[in-house]
Amino acid sequence: MKRTFKYRAYPTAVQQHWLYAELKHQKKLYNYMLQMRSQMWEYGSVSVSMYEQINHLAKLRENSHYSEHPQDLQVSTLKRLNAAYDNFFDRCQDGKAKKKGHPKFKRSVRSVTWSVRKSKVKDKATGTFKRVRQKPIRKTGTRLDRLKVPKLGEVKIRMHRPFSGDPKEVTLKKTARGWYCFIVCEVPDTIPCVPKSAVGVDVGTKTFVITSDGEKVGNRKFYKRGHDRLAALQRELARKQKGSKRYWKARNALAKHHDKVACQRLDFIAKTAYGLYHHKGFDAVVVEDLHIKGMLKNKDQKGLAKSISDTAWGMFFEWCQWVAKRDGKHFHAVDPAHTSKTCSNCCQRVKGKMSLSVRTFECKHCGFVLGRDHNAALNILYRAACALRENEFWATILAETRNPLLQQACWG
Ligand SMILES: [Zn+2]
Repeated sequence: MKRTFKYRAYPTAVQQHWLYAELKHQKKLYNYMLQMRSQMWEYGSVSVSMYEQINHLAKLRENSHYSEHPQDLQVSTLKRLNAAYDNFFDRCQDGKAKKKGHPKFKRSVRSVTWSVRKSKVKDKATGTFKRVRQKPIRKTGTRLDRLKVPKLGEVKIRMHRPFSGDPKEVTLKKTARGWYCFIVCEVPDTIPCVPKSAVGVDVGTKTFVITSDGEKVGNRKFYKRGHDRLAALQRELARKQKGSKRYWKARNALAKHHDKVACQRLDFIAKTAYGLYHHKGFDAVVVEDLHIKGMLKNKDQKGLAKSISDTAWGMFFEWCQWVAKRDGKHFHAVDPAHTSKTCSNCCQRVKGKMSLSVRTFECKHCGFVLGRDHNAALNILYRAACALRENEFWATILAETRNPLLQQACWG
């Protein structure tokens, strides 16, 4: 399993100058190699592989300005191009993909990547050589440690927490709010635990998350909260003359705002997902397998699509899945059909449409009354319990405590 650790980096003005030049060079290299691949195919029907391009790069480095730039960074750029092509070929194979999307020429590159090399180290006791991975970081014992960048030297970095595992790849990225360093580490896979407790989760726009225990997490509405400031910044930008110094200043301020909102959302979602597993202590989380892209196209209700994308359910599900994989927990997604319309007490379904404005669920068959989302969360949990009855411990208990005849009548 791979884990990525993100740290803030503080290059000096001189180092930034070097890095900007490097980003520009990587962009040119990427575009050049992309042109080579596409033209070789277009005119000669020759498919060029990544290794052929790496060999070509080695020849270029013999007698040109290419040798002034670190090879590790250049090779990573070729790997990136290869990944873009691989994804393109996958889309071509996939019949469902509407757009095949040939890789495009890049206007700018914002990050440089290099892999951490291994070096030979002599073992003094036995006298044999061992290949040991180099350390990407030099510890200083002060507030700021140093990141080793090929050819550039050492860049200040704030290690707010240590990374774990074997560091394989380092990326240095420029964002609107500064430079960041990403260290990708290979860590051993976690063995999944035996799930003893589970929770069903329903997501909404009013309350972000409601669990089958009835606990609510409010929606923070980050986009909406920053909306006024966003509008002001966009107005400022529109007034500036394009390409002027003030234009770039205003554009940077706008980018910073977008970045901030994205970070706030990420922080909130990651903490909520972590909390479900670790603070509330559940071993399994069950959610609906929503078709979010389809919901965004909904044009009947004004502003619903906007608030759906502001809540970022998809990101929340991804984070739940990731935390489960990382910490040996469990994650399930079930069919979302009729979860709000079914009674969690007697499994009877309400006929016809159920408007979004109806917030309490009232069962006509058994008189059961519960909050709409709470009822849906219970249904999600029961549905997973029925599907996983033999496989997981908690599901067996839950499925046995409920009337099996009722379940069969509704869910088969
Ligand atoms: Zn009922």
